[in-house]
Amino acid sequence: MERTTACLDVPVGAFLPGLIRRAAELEVEVLDTPRGKSVNLFYGTLEVIETGLRTTVELTSTDGAHLVNLRDTLTWHLDQEGLNHCITWARMRAGASPANMAVGRVVGASQISPNFTRVRLAGDYTRFLGGGLHFRLLLGPAGLGWPSTDETGGTVWPGGVEVWHRPAYTVRDICPEGRWIEFDIFRHEGGRVNDWAAALTPGEEVALTGPGGTGLTEAAWVGLMGDETALPAIIRMIRGAPEGTRGEAVILVPEQADVQAVECPVGITLRWIFRKNGDTLIDAFRSMQVPEGPRYVYFAAEKAEAADAREHAAKIGLKRGEVHALAYWAK
Ligand SMILES: Cc1cc2nc3c(=O)[nH]c(=O)nc-3n(C[C@H](O)[C@H](O)[C@H](O)COP(=O)(O)OP(=O)(O)OC[C@H]3O[C@@H](n4cnc5c(N)ncnc54)[C@H](O)[C@@H]3O)c2cc1C
Repeated sequence: MERTTACLDVPVGAFLPGLIRRAAELEVEVLDTPRGKSVNLFYGTLEVIETGLRTTVELTSTDGAHLVNLRDTLTWHLDQEGLNHCITWARMRAGASPANMAVGRVVGASQISPNFTRVRLAGDYTRFLGGGLHFRLLLGPAGLGWPSTDETGGTVWPGGVEVWHRPAYTVRDICPEGRWIEFDIFRHEGGRVNDWAAALTPGEEVALTGPGGTGLTEAAWVGLMGDETALPAIIRMIRGAPEGTRGEAVILVPEQADVQAVECPVGITLRWIFRKNGDTLIDAFRSMQVPEGPRYVYFAAEKAEAADAREHAAKIGLKRGEVHALAYWAK
């Protein structure tokens, strides 16, 4: 177990109601402990303890990478509540690499179809064998080096966090021993990753943080829909579905030549649709026969399409927990 402590310069009554509200939004229980209240989140546990006019928050995670993510979650929450000015983190050893960062080297970058580049990185990716499917690519100013930690365990971004581009990507494939990962980049005009991918050279260092985000799905019936950016996530979900899962998957790509070979488990059918033909993912969702009973729908595409998908999901009676309609990118 890894732990750190945050001291908040506000009484518990100024912090706890916001946390309870956020926990309710996430459908997470707030529990009583001998010292105060605790909330179990995806990355670990936050225990809130009243200490006079101040509040102590103890963060506990199974490993250092999850602890960094839990810390980022609390910082984000305090930002939303306008309380970020009142936090002091416990002091730790400075200078180490952030525990959620992995630095590897490019061993391959190839154009696998007209609109996709596959990158393979070699390094220690063992923690990506479990947990979320996603990571953040770290693209920063040239020559300033990778992020490190300060004496409170916080991440120090060379040049300032605002100059770093940190887009989310998906582990498309991983070596069973975690010695390499692969990810597929959808090449689109004007993208910073597009330019970065065009200039990649073997041996080049690449840093990323993760894993995080959605994991594999488990439901008797699944409906999985994604555009080019969610192609790797949908394929991972298809491949990782427990035996006996039934369902339908639809992936939207620009053209036939971008179709990838996928071994689908018996019971899941995969259909490819094409921008060139005027196909859309939302039409695919509207024509999908979503059965009653234990079911799960995952829809990932451009922001406005994800909003349309949420509307359709509500119309056909999908409840919270039965559907995730996510914006993977925005126009
Ligand atoms: C959880 C998650 C997982 C993801 N996994 C992957 C993945 O495995 N592979 C992948 O390719 N993408 C993936 N994405 C999407 C990716 O993060 C975004 O497309 C991101 O904007 C790419 O950054 P960029 O530097 O290319 O573009 P930016 O520099 O951020 O944006 C530049 C311009 O490109 C436009 N743009 C961004 N994405 C697209 C697009 N798809 N089509 C057309 N225009 C676009 C923007 O509107 C903007 O105008 C994922 C996103 C999420 C949230």
